[in-house]
Amino acid sequence: MTNNFNKMRFFFFLAMLVVLINTTSVDAYYTGRKPENGIIYVELGSVDQKYRNSWTSAFVNWSERNSYRSIRYRSGSSNLMTAQYDSSRPNAYGRIVYNNSSSKYTTPFRTYLNTYRSQIVNNSNVRISTASHEIGHALGLADLEDSSHSIMNTKRDRTTLIYATSRDISRVNAQ
Ligand SMILES: [Zn+2]
Repeated sequence: MTNNFNKMRFFFFLAMLVVLINTTSVDAYYTGRKPENGIIYVELGSVDQKYRNSWTSAFVNWSERNSYRSIRYRSGSSNLMTAQYDSSRPNAYGRIVYNNSSSKYTTPFRTYLNTYRSQIVNNSNVRISTASHEIGHALGLADLEDSSHSIMNTKRDRTTLIYATSRDISRVNAQ
């Protein structure tokens, strides 16, 4: 009896811990990293024009609306936005890789649209939505796995929600 009660208490505690960890990490910044500077300079990879156009559309939209951090194009920058066929991550629409694994900064980074996914190849809204999302990571935002109206929501409809929302802009500006 006591043993069962203790077991129950233990599992209840465990369940609360899981809930706590999930709710506190939801709005946290991605891996605790932020961009090193207020302005992030980016370079486009030598890939098909449609991928370059999608990245451009995404970063122009971010830079026109952010006041605290900005993102601009500069040839030769080590922050690369590109496309890659990555069948080892079949569920990923895109990915950002931080070049410096021990740094507290997001920069320098390499981010790509995953051309393994047919929607990335065939649907420009899905490409822009993914590019906007990855830039959100570059700006220091974490994934959101709730139902928020946010480009960082991993369950968003990528065919309609393609740019940062006002919530995303204020999250970046609040850093
Ligand atoms: Zn993400």
